[in-house]
Amino acid sequence: MANAKCESCKFFDEHKVNGAAAQNDEGLCRYNPPVSQPGPQDHGLWPVVGSADWCGHYAPELTAAE
Ligand code: SF4
Repeated sequence: MANAKCESCKFFDEHKVNGAAAQNDEGLCRYNPPVSQPGPQDHGLWPVVGSADWCGHYAPELTAAE
């Protein structure tokens, strides 16, 4: 997957709103539900990934023409 990057994946979310330490080129991977809920009163966390990361679930963002 030579061109696979989280920043161009439809599951990448740069909003960084879940309280995780997403900074700089980091964002959240929304492919799976939140994970690692530390306790019953805590929120689960979305995995933090870098814009240049990728994984086997990579899916390019759809454009308006698609
Ligand atoms: S970790 Fe995989 S599924 Fe998640 S944003 Fe990156 S390439 Fe997409």
